[in-house]
Amino acid sequence: MKLIRRGSLGFLFLFIIGVIFSLTGAFGSNDESFNTGYGDIYTGVYTEDLPSFPEIKGTGNVPDEIAQMAVGSAVKYHLLPSVIISQWAYESEWGRSASAKNDNNFFGITWFEGCPFPKGSARGIGGSEGGYYMKFPNKKAAFSYYGYMVASQSNFNACVGNKNPSECLLILGRGGYAAAGIDISSPYFIGCMSIIKSNNLTQYDDFAIKNWKEFGGMTGGSVGGGWGWPFPEVGQGSFTGGQLFGRNAGGEFRQNGWHDGLDFGSVDHPGKEIHAIHGGTVVYVGNPNIAGLGACVIVINDSGLNMVYQEFATSLSNAKVKVGDKVKLGDVIGIRDTEHLHLGITKKNWLQAQASAFTDDGTWLDPLKIITTGKY
Ligand SMILES: [Zn+2]
Repeated sequence: MKLIRRGSLGFLFLFIIGVIFSLTGAFGSNDESFNTGYGDIYTGVYTEDLPSFPEIKGTGNVPDEIAQMAVGSAVKYHLLPSVIISQWAYESEWGRSASAKNDNNFFGITWFEGCPFPKGSARGIGGSEGGYYMKFPNKKAAFSYYGYMVASQSNFNACVGNKNPSECLLILGRGGYAAAGIDISSPYFIGCMSIIKSNNLTQYDDFAIKNWKEFGGMTGGSVGGGWGWPFPEVGQGSFTGGQLFGRNAGGEFRQNGWHDGLDFGSVDHPGKEIHAIHGGTVVYVGNPNIAGLGACVIVINDSGLNMVYQEFATSLSNAKVKVGDKVKLGDVIGIRDTEHLHLGITKKNWLQAQASAFTDDGTWLDPLKIITTGKY
């Protein structure tokens, strides 16, 4: 493929994410002009999983694997594969850069304190840029993190749901994606647009856009999708052994020492508003009159998975949803006025599953694991 600029230039165009964003908070909130209003901020946590599309084939210099992961990330976060692939090619020199080889880092993503990955190579040639790249454990993690970053940062997330590749690249540029800048006359923009055109990458966009709705959670009206924390201001926070799912030191006071869910205490996880950890349909709101479950239980179901919110309320009026409501990740579903929210997750009938409340028989699943990995 003939490209306008590549070679080692990819090295020079670096993200300003990471330290800068974590220090300054809402980067770009002072510039509303580029926010086209397409996107909702993605408030879920990062997970490595991507929807799989083995039917997707590569094109030109783009291998099948890369095309599939770009489409997976685009579908998961409602982005455009053409933009993702063009940045993959431009930033990583078609997967051949040192950081691509050493760190599975194809997007110039900078390491920062508190990020989910270890330090990789020093940035820039011979460390000339300062700082480090994130070191991803595999390619999928990198593609998923790219999508997560774009969708969860207010300076980039106008790309979410935006069907125009050049607009998306310019949004990323205005958000500070590349230190050297991405504007209409920049080598970065011209290079990526040339890659998109000469490889006909927009063929993938049509496929992804059709699938945005199927893999929900990101934008208006859709359910399912990603995972998040019931008290987002706290995030994951920390749990004592007795609060954790399963058999842990500190949980001996329970029958069999077994805990069938995860407790979010009002001290270590402060906040009153309980946010949905995942989208779905509300299938139960009420007081089941079962000892220990509290005056209000809310059950939200997504594709057979029941998420049971219990023990958080002294009154049924603490519920902020009703049966039949479609709930998105992050929606407020109830108000906690007790010492803790107990969150249980089961694929079985949630009422019948109460029989296994103190039994390790696979009925109840580990919410912490599901929220942090997206796998169950
Ligand atoms: Zn509990």
